[in-house]
Amino acid sequence: MIAEQLAGIRKHIPEHVTLVAVSKTKPVPLVMEAYEAGQRIFGENKVQELVSKYEEMPKDIEWHMIGHLQSNKVKYIAPFVHLIHGIDSLKLLKEVNKQAQKNGRIQDCLLQFHIAEEETKFGFSEEEAIEMIQSSEFRELENIRIVGVMGMATFTENETQIRKEFTRLKQIFDHLHKDYFTSVSFNTISMGMSGDYQLAIEEGSTMVRVGSSIFGRR
Ligand SMILES: *Cc1c(COP(=O)(O)O)cnc(C)c1O
Repeated sequence: MIAEQLAGIRKHIPEHVTLVAVSKTKPVPLVMEAYEAGQRIFGENKVQELVSKYEEMPKDIEWHMIGHLQSNKVKYIAPFVHLIHGIDSLKLLKEVNKQAQKNGRIQDCLLQFHIAEEETKFGFSEEEAIEMIQSSEFRELENIRIVGVMGMATFTENETQIRKEFTRLKQIFDHLHKDYFTSVSFNTISMGMSGDYQLAIEEGSTMVRVGSSIFGRR
């Protein structure tokens, strides 16, 4: 069942796009079905659940933290988390840097941008991000590596609007890549979920975060 859903989705995703299987709220045996089907990249949005699944499941899994992350919880995931998608403040980034240092790691992170119309979504504006990037405090952080951007479109049926928001994130990525993060390791645009990943890929996504289309509704 899960294997079939996964295969169906992989068919629609080009080679250069990474599929993050969002396993939040789903029990380990169900998530293991995806693992058995070859999936090795999983995303969770709550620290406690991420840690317990990491402990219970095989160690060759890349765990992504895709949700809003509080500074005081960074320490729990710092030893193992592969990619943090939701960096939305300098304060959080400084804590990630500190914990990465303690663990002797360079932590890959994405900057989250507020591209949706909705007030509730977290993230930087382009101006805020650039201000941070130019600050001396940011430049002193040696144990983090910014590898791209992440964003969530408005929850709507309006395809034109979703597309516009994804285009905006792609523009932000291109601008940051040209002027601030010129290295080839800055290569990730995390956008697209079950309802809109095809649109996101058309607009330049390199990483989609798909949950309910693989594991069923929550
Ligand atoms: C839950 C979640 C997803 C996956 O959503 P689906 O609609 O189930 O595919 C993707 N990204 C984030 C940040 C999420 O919290």
